Amino acid sequence: MSGAGGSLDTTLGFDEALERAVAAAEPARSWLVPLLAAEGPEAERLRRAADELRTRTMGDEVHLRALIELSNYCRRNCMYCGLRLDHTGVRRYRLTPGEVLALAHQAEDLGYRTVVLQSGEDLYYETEVMAGMLRSIKAETDLAITLSLGERSDVTYAAWREAGADRYLLRIETTDPALFAAMHPDGDLERRMRCLGQLKALGYQLGTGVLVGLPGQTVVSTADDVIWMHELGAEMIGVGPFITHPDTPLAGANGGTLDQALNLLATLRLVFPHAHLPATTALGALDPQGGEKGLEAGANVLMPNLTPETQREAYLLYPGKPIVDVTSATCRDRITERVRAMGRTVATDHGHVRR
Ligand code: SF4
Repeated sequence: MSGAGGSLDTTLGFDEALERAVAAAEPARSWLVPLLAAEGPEAERLRRAADELRTRTMGDEVHLRALIELSNYCRRNCMYCGLRLDHTGVRRYRLTPGEVLALAHQAEDLGYRTVVLQSGEDLYYETEVMAGMLRSIKAETDLAITLSLGERSDVTYAAWREAGADRYLLRIETTDPALFAAMHPDGDLERRMRCLGQLKALGYQLGTGVLVGLPGQTVVSTADDVIWMHELGAEMIGVGPFITHPDTPLAGANGGTLDQALNLLATLRLVFPHAHLPATTALGALDPQGGEKGLEAGANVLMPNLTPETQREAYLLYPGKPIVDVTSATCRDRITERVRAMGRTVATDHGHVRR
């Protein structure tokens, strides 16, 4: 992990920090920290600068990625997550390959150009099961496919890429070794970083992301996350405010705030002018206007939910997840309306990463 960028006593004032960001300076703690910690009018200026840069680099189009939550089984015990193995109160489900293929067709019929296949770390979808599913979707539709299935072997990643997966999302969550270990009792930061390196080497369009507002997390730690993602060459980055789930060991902890998440999102836009940045559903869980606020702070992607309504409420990584009670078609209509109401348009191309 990089600690580059100097110590906090070299931290710049907000104005100079924003100038560095707008001038596309090499990311460093000295200017990332004041941006991440911005409040009031300064936070507004940060988000405006990010919005202006997004207009210039990515245009006004918003890319919609249809999210299909394949399974809420998970072998891991991340401290913050409602799907963790030890949470026995969850009704677990898995979609069959046939159901997933039908949903992919539905996605295409609704006008989506990408499906995101996401699940807990569920080894039921072993290499060939998943590869078969990918080949079928690619043969029968013109969809781009993003996978978000956690840590797997190099062989598996290679097979899925070969079978047609275009992109992979694997969030690092935090690059702080002590915090990562505290949040992931069965995790290994080095292993996760190796997985990301392997995904990149295989030619996947590479997505990662972080949580913000974790217990004990500091803005310096978040600045280091940004520096690390820059070194990695991340092409898609999701920001999740930490939201406390009542059935996890962190039930009593304070959660992250929308302002923390928006500051990070805006800072990421300034550091990654051409990355695809979603306004994540977690923003909408903190504020009914969270999606819009994310799109006004540098984001250019939304991820509407296409998981069958009967399973959607069982895929609760955190409470308050929006749009768990509307049909997929209604969800699509509402999101399109919201994008248009902002004077933006829904993209009609695949929205691949530009290299
Ligand atoms: S964050 Fe992902 S890997 Fe961790 S417990 Fe939740 S679903 Fe499993």
